[in-house]
Amino acid sequence: MTISPAERARQPDSRSVFLQDGATLAVVGGGPAGAFFAILAARKARALGKALDLVIIEKNSGGRDSCPAHTIEGCNYCAGGISPNLFDILNQNGIHLPEEIIEGKAESVIVHGDWKSLELPVPKGRTMLSVFRGTRPQNRPSRYENFDAFLLDQAVNEGARLICGEARDISYGKSGKPAVRYGEPSRPGGESKTIEADFVAVASGVNQTPGMNLATDPFFRALKGALPGFRPPKVRRALICEMQAEEEALRHLKAEVHFVQYGSRDLRIEMSSLIPKGRWITIVLLGPSVDAAQPSDRLAIIERFLELPHIKRLIPRGARLRPVCLCFPNMTVKRARGFLGDRIALVGDIVVSRLYKDGIFSAYTTAEALSDCLLNEGIGRSALMKGYAPFIRRFDRDNRFGEVVFTLSRLTFSRPVLSRIVYQAVLTELKSKARNKRRLVNVLWKIAGGDDSYSKILWAMAQPAAIWTIFWGGALMTFRNALAERLFGLRWQGIGRYQTGVAMEDFEEKRQSFLRALEVSSLQRPEFARMYSIRIKAGRARVLQELGRFGDGENGFFSTRRVVVRRISGAANELGSTVLYDVSPRFLSFRMALEKIVGTRFLMYRVLDGFARDGIFVFGIDPIGEDACSLSIYVAFDFPRGTNALPRSFWRLFRLFFPGFVHDVIWNHSLCRLKHLVEVNPE
Ligand SMILES: Cc1cc2nc3c(=O)[nH]c(=O)nc-3n(C[C@H](O)[C@H](O)[C@H](O)COP(=O)(O)OP(=O)(O)OC[C@H]3O[C@@H](n4cnc5c(N)ncnc54)[C@H](O)[C@@H]3O)c2cc1C
Repeated sequence: MTISPAERARQPDSRSVFLQDGATLAVVGGGPAGAFFAILAARKARALGKALDLVIIEKNSGGRDSCPAHTIEGCNYCAGGISPNLFDILNQNGIHLPEEIIEGKAESVIVHGDWKSLELPVPKGRTMLSVFRGTRPQNRPSRYENFDAFLLDQAVNEGARLICGEARDISYGKSGKPAVRYGEPSRPGGESKTIEADFVAVASGVNQTPGMNLATDPFFRALKGALPGFRPPKVRRALICEMQAEEEALRHLKAEVHFVQYGSRDLRIEMSSLIPKGRWITIVLLGPSVDAAQPSDRLAIIERFLELPHIKRLIPRGARLRPVCLCFPNMTVKRARGFLGDRIALVGDIVVSRLYKDGIFSAYTTAEALSDCLLNEGIGRSALMKGYAPFIRRFDRDNRFGEVVFTLSRLTFSRPVLSRIVYQAVLTELKSKARNKRRLVNVLWKIAGGDDSYSKILWAMAQPAAIWTIFWGGALMTFRNALAERLFGLRWQGIGRYQTGVAMEDFEEKRQSFLRALEVSSLQRPEFARMYSIRIKAGRARVLQELGRFGDGENGFFSTRRVVVRRISGAANELGSTVLYDVSPRFLSFRMALEKIVGTRFLMYRVLDGFARDGIFVFGIDPIGEDACSLSIYVAFDFPRGTNALPRSFWRLFRLFFPGFVHDVIWNHSLCRLKHLVEVNPE
C-alpha cells in the first residue's frame, strides 16, 4: 500500500529518527557509489554497535557460480582511471586492489599541447592505476575479475545482500517508510517485488542505458514520485571506446596515460584521454563533435581521431587498433536538484560528480558524506538537509572553478603560441627549480591527476609567481628561441616535437653516471654544461647506427643553416674518426674526435681545438625495456682563458655573452629529428 507524495508531505519528517539496530537500508545500484556507501555504512554502524540489514539492488550483477565475485556484466561506461586520491582512500579503508584487477600502473601522465607534449612523472609516493569496470571487453581472459565486481564483493563481505534486479520505482508506504519496487532486469513488464526499507540510497548513476535521456527515462520519472523536487543532474555526452591491438603492440605506451585537449578544425575535441591496458587502450573523447554526433557516427569519430597527426604519432606503428566496444555514455557535469527527501537520498553520479576527472573518487566522497550523515545526524529530510546537502553544494561549487580551470587549460594547450609559452615555462622550471618549488608542474599535475580541489588549483594558477614564470620563463624565452630557430633555418614540418630538457635533479645524477662510466676525471665543474634527453621507441643498436650519421651533413639528423657537421676522417662510429663543426662565423668552428666507445651505451667525442678545446661531447643510450631507449647528450667544456690582457678580456666577454640557448634550440630540433628517423625506419 503506497501513499501519494502529497500525503507523504503531510506526514511528519523523521527528523530525529536514527537507524536502529537491524534497520533495513536499501541501495539502488551497485556501482562504486552504491558499493562504497554499503561498505562505509556497514562499518560505521558496526562501530556504533548496530547491525544493518543492507540490501544492494544491482541490475547487472550476474552472480555466476563459475566466478568467485559477484560479477558486473557489461561495463559501467568509464575509462577506469584510478586516481592517486582514490588509491590512497581505498588503502586507508583496507580495500587493496588485487593484481588481477589492475590493468596498468602509470608512471607518467603526458599532456599533449599543440606545440609539444609535457611529460609529468607521477610523483613519488603517489599511485595511478587503471582497471576495467565490468566484463567488457569480452575476450579478456580474466574478465569476471573487475573493479565493480571487486567492490561489490567487499560490500558483501561487510554483510550486504546483493539482489540482481532492476529498480522500477520508489514510493512511500503507509508506515512512512520508502519501498523499492524491482524486477528482473530487461523485463520491464515482468513480475516485480518490493522491499520496504528504513532508508533508501539511490546510486544508479546516469547511464541505466548509455547516453539515455534523463528527462524521459522511466526510473528517473518514477523517482519524481518520491522526490517531487527532483531535477536530474546536467550531463554531457562522451564517446568511450575500447580498442584492441595485437598482443604486445602497445608495450611502448605501458605506464603512460595521455591527455589531449585538441582535435582539428573538422573534429572538434575539447578533451580526450588514452589509457593503455595491456593489449587494450581505452579512449574517451569530449567536445562539440561528440555533442553533435548521431549514434551512427561513433566509429567514424574514433577513426578520424586516430588519424589526427598528433594521435597517429602517439600510437605505435603497426599496432592495428580495432574497436571492440564503443558507446556514447552520459557524464555528470552539474548537480541534481531536490536530491533528497525523508529517508531517501541520491548518491554518486546521479547527484554530482567531480567535473571531467576522478568520478569514482567523488562517488566515494559522496557515499562517505551520506553514510556519515545517516549515522550522525539521522535519516529524516531535515537531518539530510543539515548533514548531507551542504556537502553536495560545496562539491558543485568547486566544479564551477573546475570549469574555469579546464577552459584555461584547453585554451592554452590547443593554441600553438600559448602552448609553446607554457611548455617553455614548465621546462625553465624543471631545469632551474628544485622539485618542491615547481609551481607550474605542480598545477599541471594536479589538473591531470585530479590531486586537489579546483578552487585551490585556480588559486595556484593565479599566483603572481606563477604568472611571472609564464612571462619570464615562458613568453620571453619562447620569443628568443623562435628567433634562433629562424636564424638557423630549423623546420618542424613532418617531425614530432618532444620534450628534450632534463630536470635539475636528473641532470646531476646522469652527469655523474656518465663521467664514471667513461672514466673521465676532468671537467668535474665545467663552465659550460648542457644535457638533453629523448625517449626513442627503438633498440640501442638502431639508435647507435643513426648516431653514426653524425657528420653526414644534410643526410644526417643534424643539419642547420649556419652549423654544418662533417666527418673529415675515419668511418661512422669508428674510434678516432673526426668531425668538423663548421660554424659561421668561422672562428667558432672546431673539430672533435671520437675518443671512447663503451658497448652500445656511450660514444664520447673530445674537442680538439677552438673555443671548446678539451671539452667532451657524449651520446649516452639507456635501455628502457626491450626495444626502447633514452638517448641523452651531454656537452661540457671550459672557456679559454687567454694569456695576456686583451685575449683575457675577449674571452671573458665571450663567456658572458655565449648564447648557450642556441645550443639548446639546435639540439632539441636534432634530437626530435633523430627520433623521427629512427622510429620511421626501425630496422
Ligand atoms: C566516458 C567516461 C569516462 C570516465 N572515466 C573515468 C575515469 O577514468 N576515472 C574516474 O574516476 N571516473 C571516470 N568517469 C566517471 C565515473 O564513471 C563515474 O563518476 C562513476 O562511475 C560514478 O559511480 P556511480 O556508482 O555513481 O554510478 P555508475 O558507475 O553509473 O553505477 C551505477 C550502477 O547502478 C546500476 N543501476 C542503474 N540503474 C539501476 C536500476 N534501476 N536498478 C538497479 N541497478 C541500477 C548500474 O548497473 C550501475 O552498476 C568516467 C565517466 C565517463 C562517462
